Amino acid sequence: MPQIDDLPPLREVIANHSLDARKSLGQNFLLDLNLTSRIARAAAPLEDCTVLEIGPGPGGLTRALLAAGAKRVIAIEKDTRCLPALAEISAHYDGRLEVIEGDALKIDPVALAGSDKIKIVANLPYNVGTQLLLNWITPDNWPPFWSSLTLMFQKEVGARIVARPGSKAYGRLSVLAGWRTESNMLFDLNPKAFTPPPKVTSTVIHMTPLSEPLHCSRKNLERVTSAAFGQRRKMLRASLKSLGGPADDLLERAGLEPTARAEEIDVEGFVRLANCFSEGLG
Ligand code: SAM
Repeated sequence: MPQIDDLPPLREVIANHSLDARKSLGQNFLLDLNLTSRIARAAAPLEDCTVLEIGPGPGGLTRALLAAGAKRVIAIEKDTRCLPALAEISAHYDGRLEVIEGDALKIDPVALAGSDKIKIVANLPYNVGTQLLLNWITPDNWPPFWSSLTLMFQKEVGARIVARPGSKAYGRLSVLAGWRTESNMLFDLNPKAFTPPPKVTSTVIHMTPLSEPLHCSRKNLERVTSAAFGQRRKMLRASLKSLGGPADDLLERAGLEPTARAEEIDVEGFVRLANCFSEGLG
């Protein structure tokens, strides 16, 4: 095992602080320093920015980020058992680590950001990962407070984020991600890399915000994608009936074939659909 700092090995940290992993908190700890360093490198350069990490746990990825030169790391952790271990890291790295105890879903990240550029890097707890991502990519104000997201998800979720039209994984999450960001799948992690091993392969995704996403109401994009993918095997003329109005007219105005299915429509098509739906409401 490579050494990245003089702190005790992660297995020792976990044993010393009795951090037995809890399923209810989505705890699968990544102890392989080659992999934590690889994730930190994927988010580089870090010297000039504040990194926001969600769920540092015993601090493996946190240490990799600090060792890679992150100017400052703000880490939000819900499990109070992890706080003493994280305090040791903060002391070792001259206070460059600030730990906030709490639920990342309830803490406003914009208020934490200050004037620094923010990069979000996290091995996300699987039970709240998708919701956190949606919060970061669909705020009303754009560009967002972050300049990149380097995130670990279950591979199936990662595939949905980066999927293109025509693939099985393409769905609502792909459209929302594609509307506002450019995203890439970087590399997979075998379940054996984690303690305890999860049931499925994980993957690291890198996302950057598009500077000028197509104009559209987030709420209406969410409504049309929910309706279309809610019944993804049906033709749009049938699935969009749930929106209330005449679906054929809406589809014609958006320049889409009424016989097409949701998975054939690209992001531009969904944006047109959302905009025509908005006009119909107005
Ligand atoms: N970063 C560590 C690693 O890579 O080994 C731990 C990752 S583990 C998959 C997810 C972490 O998120 C756990 O430490 C868990 O306690 C924390 N967590 C779970 N739900 C959370 C929430 N709502 N807000 C903040 N942290 C949360």
